[in-house]
Amino acid sequence: AAKAVPELLSPQNARLLLDSTEAFLFDCDGVIWKGDKLIDGVSETLDLLRSKGKKLVFVTNNSSKSRRQYAEKFNSLGIAVSEDEIFSSSFAAAMFLKVNDFPQEKKVYVIGGEGILEELQLAGFTGLGGPEDGKKTVELKSNCFFEHDKSVGAVVVGIDPYINYYKLQYGTLCIRENPGCLFIATNLDAVGHMTDLQEWPGAGCMVGAISSSTEKKPMVVGKPSTFMMDFLLQKYHINTSKMCMVGDRLDTDILFGQNAGCKTLLVLSGVTTQAILQDPSNKIQPDYYTSKLSDFLRIL
Ligand code: PLP
Ligand code: CA
Repeated sequence: AAKAVPELLSPQNARLLLDSTEAFLFDCDGVIWKGDKLIDGVSETLDLLRSKGKKLVFVTNNSSKSRRQYAEKFNSLGIAVSEDEIFSSSFAAAMFLKVNDFPQEKKVYVIGGEGILEELQLAGFTGLGGPEDGKKTVELKSNCFFEHDKSVGAVVVGIDPYINYYKLQYGTLCIRENPGCLFIATNLDAVGHMTDLQEWPGAGCMVGAISSSTEKKPMVVGKPSTFMMDFLLQKYHINTSKMCMVGDRLDTDILFGQNAGCKTLLVLSGVTTQAILQDPSNKIQPDYYTSKLSDFLRIL
């Protein structure tokens, strides 16, 4: 349960948190890296936690990469992380279809990146769209009729830097005209670090476009939805009271952890400032907060 006022992570409660935690769940952007740049001291801190026998899990809402591609990113930044320690919203979208027995003979239309297509393929599904449709255009002549595949049974929408009118029409027609077609959002983040120095429109804006044209609400699989948590709990069998979710965003990461009964630690190395955290209108409070992950090295 969240405290009324979060506590600054002191040496005493850092030790308490460490002793009572079996698994640390880390958000990625704002905690581990910013864009493609590693945050100071992260590598050493993860080494320390691993040396104490802690299970480490990485949970990111950014659907642009697959788990394999994230493992490559970690390794290229000098951090040894394996694919099965990573839970990305791209993977979550594929797992959502799997646990809901989505028929293999149906197709999945993707407004999003290569990461989603790769996860769909690994899960045995046929994806359409993605980056390839980024080059396609529509000709809006009065006699133009847009054809779409009637065997599409789900539309997955994530961050898509190549979104265009073709994809919007494709996804819209599938959802409006194919009976029972699912509408899945990887996440609803307003903005994201597409580059190291700036935030850019996030998946929320692509999902919003399709929500508007179809007048339907999506099924969201990323944080703060409980889907990824339920999924990773099946894998790890750790009581959530022995888990700590570390994140930089209150309405995704901290809420995600709290909804499951995890301890929560907010780091101020991402989007949340101390002023936002302490604003009386802010309803989501972590158990603890600290400036950055590597504070563990300093205070333990
Ligand atoms: N979505 C996009 C497109 C992003 O670029 C980012 C961060 O860079 C995120 C979501 C949030 O990712 P995370 O959950 O790792 O903070
Ligand atoms: Ca984040």
